[in-house]
Amino acid sequence: MVDSRTRIAVIGGGMGGLTAAIALDRIAGVQVTVFEQATALGEVGAGVTVAPNAQRVLDALGVLDQVRRAGATPDGHGVYLDASGALVTDAAWEDSAKQYRNIGMYRPDLIEVLAREVDGESIRLGHRLASLRTEESGVRVTFENGVTDLFDAVIGADGIHSVVRRSIVPDPEPVYSGYIVYRGVVDASHLPADWPRISQVWMGEQRHFMCYPLQQRTLFNFVAGVPSDRPLHGPWSGPADVSELRAEFAGEMWDTRLQRFLGAIEKTFWWGLFDHEPLRNWSHGAVTLLGDAAHTMLPHQGQGVNQAIEDSMALAVFLKAADTVADIPEAFRRYTSVRMQRTAILQHGSRRAGWMFDAQHEFADRRKRDTDLRVGRDFRRSAVFDYDARKVAERALARFRKEQYA
Ligand SMILES: Cc1cc2nc3c(=O)[nH]c(=O)nc-3n(C[C@H](O)[C@H](O)[C@H](O)COP(=O)(O)OP(=O)(O)OC[C@H]3O[C@@H](n4cnc5c(N)ncnc54)[C@H](O)[C@@H]3O)c2cc1C
Repeated sequence: MVDSRTRIAVIGGGMGGLTAAIALDRIAGVQVTVFEQATALGEVGAGVTVAPNAQRVLDALGVLDQVRRAGATPDGHGVYLDASGALVTDAAWEDSAKQYRNIGMYRPDLIEVLAREVDGESIRLGHRLASLRTEESGVRVTFENGVTDLFDAVIGADGIHSVVRRSIVPDPEPVYSGYIVYRGVVDASHLPADWPRISQVWMGEQRHFMCYPLQQRTLFNFVAGVPSDRPLHGPWSGPADVSELRAEFAGEMWDTRLQRFLGAIEKTFWWGLFDHEPLRNWSHGAVTLLGDAAHTMLPHQGQGVNQAIEDSMALAVFLKAADTVADIPEAFRRYTSVRMQRTAILQHGSRRAGWMFDAQHEFADRRKRDTDLRVGRDFRRSAVFDYDARKVAERALARFRKEQYA
């Protein structure tokens, strides 16, 4: 069996890399070192929803209570509204067993919670991976600061511009969605006292605005999606004027409650929405990928981080079952075969969800779009939220073993 003498390098100390470090340590019992290019761990000042499917994993890793304490569980299900604020449908917010409910997390808080669970000695900051090379006795990683080291295996959790990915497949073409989002947080004290502590999404002509509570409801996250060709002419993100965001949702057709929220925003930044087609492969020898490096997806189903968390559990299950270091490539191949199916569906599903929110002009009859949204809610609960990454990986492992010895 692989054990604490098995040395694994995780490249990238984002939400995916840190969860992988926890899972590989607690489930597979291997020795993990996380290399992060930044000189401090951190995240953009915005929110993320930790969904039931990821909470199931965090629960198994013993981290869920900390996440719950740092985050915000809404008062009830979320709502999709039309531009005027009329209800279109309620939103999925819990699994079928009602055991796990969406948690809104301030991203820097989630990084902090996860980092606390990783031995500080195992996190190397200021290490930007320059290259990696497979040698006879392992995988050699070399960093821009000149440090080089040899590991039994390497996991690329280094995000959309992954350097590790380049050693496995040609860089996938980033696909621009045609949309940017304005993101940020609002202090709850700047909103009316009776502002609903739930997720709300207003959907208007080619744009939508979402808000939900974070940090024990002292903050509200917002994400406003609008069409733009901005990322095609320069950087993919940057600071933005609040007046520019307000102008996107100006006009009588928009709910006065939304105008109230927009009035409370003091700061925002914009972010281009990109994804890529599912990769043909994620693993080569003792090198594999996880999170956005493997499957960047649009945020319209709120599943990017949640999939990275599922990846972490599946990876740990397959790695734990490796008899020796020589079996790691096969463990990674099996991990890839199971996770690629799941994430490819969600990559395409996230594109479709974006069209549903923002492009209703493409639907001949908007009522049909609204029906699709209602039906999609039930699918989301059963297909996305009820998924148990550990069980799926363990079942797949049993089948792999059966096939192997049949
Ligand atoms: C508007 C918006 C809303 C979203 N909302 C949600 C949501 O509600 N729920 C959800 O699940 N997902 C959501 N997502 C998606 C989510 O943010 C991403 O899927 C997630 O951040 C990916 O995590 P990761 O750890 O794989 O990659 P990243 O967060 O990109 O982390 C990669 C890390 O690797 C480091 N790194 C990069 N290159 C190197 C290198 N060469 N050497 C060393 N380190 C390196 C980086 O500094 C970084 O720390 C949203 C995304 C957007 C844009």
